[in-house]
Amino acid sequence: MTLRVFTSTVADGNMSPAFQDNPQTRANRDRFFKKNGIDPNSVASMKQIHSALIIETSNPIRHIGCDGLMTVDKALWLSVAHADCMPLFFYSEHPYILGAAHVGWKGLVSRLPFKMVEQFVKKGATTESIIVEGGPFICEQHYDIDVTDERKNKLPHVALESGKIGLDLRQETLRQLQEAGIIPGNIHLSLECTAEFPGRYSSYHVHQAARHGAMVTVAGVQNV
Ligand SMILES: [Zn+2]
Repeated sequence: MTLRVFTSTVADGNMSPAFQDNPQTRANRDRFFKKNGIDPNSVASMKQIHSALIIETSNPIRHIGCDGLMTVDKALWLSVAHADCMPLFFYSEHPYILGAAHVGWKGLVSRLPFKMVEQFVKKGATTESIIVEGGPFICEQHYDIDVTDERKNKLPHVALESGKIGLDLRQETLRQLQEAGIIPGNIHLSLECTAEFPGRYSSYHVHQAARHGAMVTVAGVQNV
C-alpha cells in the first residue's frame, strides 16, 4: 500500500465546496476521482470553517464544521477543498492512520498542524514515523494582507514593497510540525504557489475577479 495524493487543476473544473450541492461540481469531483482510480463514494470531505477541529471518521460523507479529518479505515479517502490555503495530509503506516487538514492562517493561529500530530500520537503513532504531504498553496510573496488583525502579525511574514505584509504559511507549518516532533525529512510541502500558475490552479486571493473556483486535493492508499 502506498500513500497517494492527487490535486485537481483548473482543467478538472470547479471543486468549490460552496457549490457542493451543485450537480456540475459533483460531476467534476466524481470525474476527477475516477480518473485517479478512486471510487467517489469512498471520499470524505469537509464543510470547512477555518478552525482547528479534527473529526475521526470512517464515513465517506461531507463533515460539517471542521478543518481536519482522521481515519484508520484504509478504504476511506480524505479530501480538502482549497484555493490558497494549504491542503495538508498526515500518514502513519503502522498503525495505519490517515489525516487531512485545511490549513490557512486561522488554522495556524489555532495550531491545527500541531494538533493533528497530537491526535496521531494518541492513536499510537510515533512522531518519527509520520509522513506529511502538502499540496499547492499561496506563497508569502503573494499572500499580501493589510495588518488589521494582530493575530496575523504574530505569524511569520515578510515586508512587501506595497507596504503590506506577506504571510508565510510554509514557515509556520514547518515550525509547528517540527515542534510536534516530525522529522524534517518526512515533511514534503509543495513548492508551487497557487497564485503563480493561473492556468493550473485557482487563487482566490489573487485572481478573485476571474476565479475558476476551488481545487480539491485527495489522499488515500492504493496498491500501485
Ligand atoms: Zn506566489
